[in-house]
Amino acid sequence: MRMSRSAATLGALGLVLAGCSSEAGQQAEESASNTPSVATDVQFQPGTTMAELHDAGTITVGTKFDQPGFGLLNPQTQTPEGFDVEIAKIVAGELGIAPEDITWTETVSANREPFIQNGQVDIVVATYTINDTRKQVVDFAGPYYIAGQDIMVAKGNPEGIEGPDDLAGKTVCSVEGSTPAQNIRDNYPQANLVTYDVYSKCADDLTNGNVQAVTTDNVILTGLVAGNPEGFELVGNPFTEEPYGIGLAKGDTEFRAFINDALEQSFEDGTWAAAWDRTAGVITGEQAPEPPTVDRY
Ligand code: GLU
Repeated sequence: MRMSRSAATLGALGLVLAGCSSEAGQQAEESASNTPSVATDVQFQPGTTMAELHDAGTITVGTKFDQPGFGLLNPQTQTPEGFDVEIAKIVAGELGIAPEDITWTETVSANREPFIQNGQVDIVVATYTINDTRKQVVDFAGPYYIAGQDIMVAKGNPEGIEGPDDLAGKTVCSVEGSTPAQNIRDNYPQANLVTYDVYSKCADDLTNGNVQAVTTDNVILTGLVAGNPEGFELVGNPFTEEPYGIGLAKGDTEFRAFINDALEQSFEDGTWAAAWDRTAGVITGEQAPEPPTVDRY
């Protein structure tokens, strides 16, 4: 039996999700809007991470705080909003943890692995690309979305940048500890790479003319363009695949399988698509794509 206890409504420009809890004790069924439900009748094998989190009644989730559509802090509620946030709520709900009982921690790109490794967060849902380097120190459930590296330029594209080869001799901003920054270092060494800890600082640099381009995943850049459509535009020519996973402690096979089950269920019952539609979908203007296939490695 499931009890739907959360509802999310969309604010202006789709950046703002106002979470509001209905009274406990409502009808035990999925709400009409397919918002993540909170399991009420779950039991877990003692000693598992699932049992630990369920018994604690809380989970600490690392996410982004400056990425519209995926993880953006609402200054009023002091909680983040976006597709990643909704994915985390789906997982928490399967553990019997309500959205208001989630502890949100900002994880910038470079501190996702360390925060998982030293137990500062239970999971990371933060536009987090699954790759073999990272899998050496953390594990991933998912993927739950496939993005692609792209480029954002000043409105009108004054430098005529159409793809990564055009970055040669240009100054391009990305974030330390991210796959797009590493890709530029490895494969486009003629670009002059500037890095910060978060993408919003890159956007500021593009506004100020300190850099000529910003590179990261297309969906992150789309969120930045939505925040300043007069100032920025997306090149719109993705040149990598960035499968987004949920990071968790390495070796916690049961927890990874549990999260993968939760993701697959959300793909099937419509909660995943509904989460997309009311967050990233508003910003990209695109309907939820076909969900990817979970990798049970
Ligand atoms: N998906 C890429 C990564 O995980 C870029 C986005 C980000 O930095 O969060 O590195």
